[in-house]
Amino acid sequence: MLQQIRRSVESSEKRKIQPRRRIRYIRKLDMAPNIPANELEKLEKVSEKYVFRANTYYLNLIDWDDPADPIRQLIIPREEELREWGKLDACNEEAVTVAKGVQHKYKDTVLLLCNEVCGAYCRYCFRKRLFMDDHDESINDMSQGIRYIKSHPEVNNVLLTGGDPLVMSTPRLVNILKALREISHVKIIRIGTKMPAFNPWRILDDLTLLEAFRTFSLEEKRIYLMAHFDHPRELTKPAIEGIARCLKSGVICVNQCPIIKGVNDDAAVLAELFAKLSYIGCSPYYLFQGRPTAGNKPYALPIVRGWKIFSEAHYRGSGLARRARFVMSHETGKIEITAVDDQYIYMRYHEAGNPADLGRFMIYHRDDHAYWIDQLKPVKRIIQ
Ligand code: SF4
Repeated sequence: MLQQIRRSVESSEKRKIQPRRRIRYIRKLDMAPNIPANELEKLEKVSEKYVFRANTYYLNLIDWDDPADPIRQLIIPREEELREWGKLDACNEEAVTVAKGVQHKYKDTVLLLCNEVCGAYCRYCFRKRLFMDDHDESINDMSQGIRYIKSHPEVNNVLLTGGDPLVMSTPRLVNILKALREISHVKIIRIGTKMPAFNPWRILDDLTLLEAFRTFSLEEKRIYLMAHFDHPRELTKPAIEGIARCLKSGVICVNQCPIIKGVNDDAAVLAELFAKLSYIGCSPYYLFQGRPTAGNKPYALPIVRGWKIFSEAHYRGSGLARRARFVMSHETGKIEITAVDDQYIYMRYHEAGNPADLGRFMIYHRDDHAYWIDQLKPVKRIIQ
């Protein structure tokens, strides 16, 4: 009987899947439609430094009549990227790299950089160094990472990241999931991915992937899909269906994204994003203050400005749309910006590299021009 029900559910799922869309990936700007020749020449210089990649599905979401279109800002290079700004490894990830492609910063969580390609490249990416030819930090062979996790029983969370793990082939991803599920102390496997936004057909077309989710997302040991929607316009029908498929396959979905100038730096836009994410079962989880990364100047917002937009958006939605925290992923830990008043900015360590910092409350002098905690002057520190 149960088998019959399962067969009928599977066949109805197959029927609902829409026909495969031919998505083409492009790496040359001149293959993107609608960029005028005079602009193209300037932007190609930018993409020589910070590589460009997109696909036909995502490019089709752009309103080319609007030069300030948020989806366009997200993937089409801008000349201002060449301005001096930040470092390539803004959070010093190198310092927590314990083996090639393996980062261990917080006691119970290990990151595996298992891929160095994404469905498109976000212009504001803080890991853009991975896409550069002279950087080789991700791994094809996961055995070293798996061995490391096996020998660290305190690790109960593993984040697959990169790059985008869903750009990998399904057999490769399945091998990693299988190897992780064989380690009894690994409870949560997170998959950090923007594919539901960049190319939802990656999920919709792949029944083997969904089957793998069903197999490895267990009642007491879930897979979490850490989605990355930046703007409500990315929540298209196929994108929503992609999330629905993951949920039906037993995967918990949440969303994390940065606040990005020209994309979502507007309380109404952010409130709409948070609300819609809550409707589709992909709760807002983190909103990140952008790390001062080389090339990211045009997308950066000062902390106070970001906090104002976040707090205004935050209180427009229901409780479920209000689950995001506004945080900075600093090299010392994840620092939550909890409040700003006329004089001060109040923060707390939500995660900390040094366990003694966890929960530490901090007060800084307000500076409306500061983009990062290192630019602020502390008032005092209180351990709570
Ligand atoms: S999906 Fe993530 S890793 Fe990939 S380009 Fe965008 S921000 Fe960077």
